[in-house]
Amino acid sequence: MLVLWFLSGVILSEYIQLISDRGSFLNSLWGRSKCDECQKEIPWVSLIPFIGRFLNGGRCVYCNKKISLKYFWFELLFSLGWAGILYGFWYLGVTSFWILAPTLLLYCATILLMYEDYKNYSVPVTWLISWLCFYALSWWSIGGRKMYLSDTLLMLGVLALSLLIVYFKRPKKNRSISSLFGTADILVLVQFALLLGFQKTTWVLVFSMIGAFFFLLWQKRLEVGQRLPLLTVMLLWGVIALWFL
Ligand SMILES: [Zn+2]
Repeated sequence: MLVLWFLSGVILSEYIQLISDRGSFLNSLWGRSKCDECQKEIPWVSLIPFIGRFLNGGRCVYCNKKISLKYFWFELLFSLGWAGILYGFWYLGVTSFWILAPTLLLYCATILLMYEDYKNYSVPVTWLISWLCFYALSWWSIGGRKMYLSDTLLMLGVLALSLLIVYFKRPKKNRSISSLFGTADILVLVQFALLLGFQKTTWVLVFSMIGAFFFLLWQKRLEVGQRLPLLTVMLLWGVIALWFL
C-alpha cells in the first residue's frame, strides 16, 4: 500500500512540476514535454520518474545537456510527503472525503507555491488566492469555526509598525514599501491570524525566520540585505500549525 501511495505521489509530483514550469494549469494539460535547451520533445522513456533519469545518466538524449537535480529532489520529497499524509490518515482511521480532499489539495498547492517562490521569489496572484482558499477549506474541514478578528487587527498593527520602522531606517532614496514584505507574505500572515489566532501566527513567523536563516546559511548567502524565501517557509509552517498545533 505504501508503495502504491508513493507511486501515486510520483505521478502527481510530475504534474505539479509541469504546472510550475509552464506557468498555468491550462497549459499543463496538453503538449509533450520538451528539453529546456534544445526544445526537442523528450522521449517517453526518459519521462519515467527516477528510472528515466538513471537510463540517460541525467542528460538530455539529444543535446546532452545536464538535467537539473531539482526535478529529482522535488519528486522524491513530494512523494514521501504525499505517502506520509496518506499513511497518517490510514493510521488515524480517517476516511471522510471532506477531510481527505481539502488536506491533499492543500498539500499539493502548498508544495507548488513553495517551489515557485523558491525559484522566483514570487508567486502568481491566482495561485496564491487558490492556496488561501484551500487553506481555509482545510481549516474548516478539520473543525475550525472560530475566527480571530481582534487578533487579526493586532497582527495588522504589528506588521504596519515593523514596516514603518524598517521604512524610516532606510536611506531616503531607497524607501519603498513593496521592497520590505511581499504583498503575498502579508496576505498569508493575515489569513493565519484570522484562522489560527495571534499566538500560533507568531510561532509560524518565528519558525519561518529561523527556517529562512538556515536556508541562507545553507546557501552561504549570509549578508545583510539578502532576499529571503520567507513565503516558502511560512507556507510550510502555516500548514504544520494548522494540522498539529
Ligand atoms: Zn536537449
